[in-house]
Amino acid sequence: QFTLPNHVALVTGGHRGIGLEMALALAEAGATVYCVDLPKHPDEGWLKVQAFAAQLPSLEGGSKGRLEYVCGDVTDQAGMWKIAEDIAAKEGRLDVCVANAGILRGAECLEYPGEEFKKLIDVNVNGVLFSAQAAGRQMQRFGRKGSIILIASMSGSIANQKQHWVAYNTSKSAVLQMGRSMACELGAKGIRVNTISPGYIYTQMTRDFLDTRPHLMAEWSSQNPIGRLGRPDELRGVVLWLASEASTFCTGSDIIVDGGHRA
Ligand code: NAD
Repeated sequence: QFTLPNHVALVTGGHRGIGLEMALALAEAGATVYCVDLPKHPDEGWLKVQAFAAQLPSLEGGSKGRLEYVCGDVTDQAGMWKIAEDIAAKEGRLDVCVANAGILRGAECLEYPGEEFKKLIDVNVNGVLFSAQAAGRQMQRFGRKGSIILIASMSGSIANQKQHWVAYNTSKSAVLQMGRSMACELGAKGIRVNTISPGYIYTQMTRDFLDTRPHLMAEWSSQNPIGRLGRPDELRGVVLWLASEASTFCTGSDIIVDGGHRA
């Protein structure tokens, strides 16, 4: 039930962090996974993808997973539609989409620069819609069942002092409602749409934020009973469950993975 034989998946922001771990999990379960991300110089994430891809047996027989890297910007609607169209044309199907790419900027709400607010909403809201649309159109075209997974955040449902995340929290709230709304429309077509709301996960995104606010590390850790930040690999199981046949009666749901966070 938790395998994805011959499945094809698209993961945005799959170059590093949560997206990369999710892409690895899907590929290990047998899927061919296309990681869409901004152009990058080779770094740890990309090298990890290459190392992983090299150790996988060939696709002959169709039962082994594979990872591909595609340059793309989720804020480019036409570009995302084209990427999904090309993947589906090449592979003959598209089964799973993880709309994961996101950015974080903190600034006081009364001072938040308009251009930065727009940029964040463009990536975290428009980009999630464009990615989900791109995949959903191909799922519909090939008349197949599909699973679209939007990466929200616990920050879509709570607000914290000291963080100044007015834009980020707003964007993640929007993703939660986007997931529920899309699920209503697409259920009859056999396409499920769910969201995942992680708590604090230790990635480059949180590292960059904590660099200038190191005191928050202990505070964040003390806000859940497990007493630490989560690791990106701790989201592998939930994405695999939502992508696979194991969750066929789950749509319009939000799965919270936050270590039991209580502010
Ligand atoms: P990250 O910064 O480590 O990785 C994000 C990836 O998205 C990067 O590879 C980046 O290049 C890519 N990306 C950014 N803008 C893009 C664009 N316009 N087009 C294509 N790719 C783009 O972040 P992460 O911590 O792995 O977060 C992944 C997702 O999980 C985000 O949506 C984030 O909001 C969400 N999330 C993270 C946490 C956390 O604590 N780290 C918690 C809850 C939710």
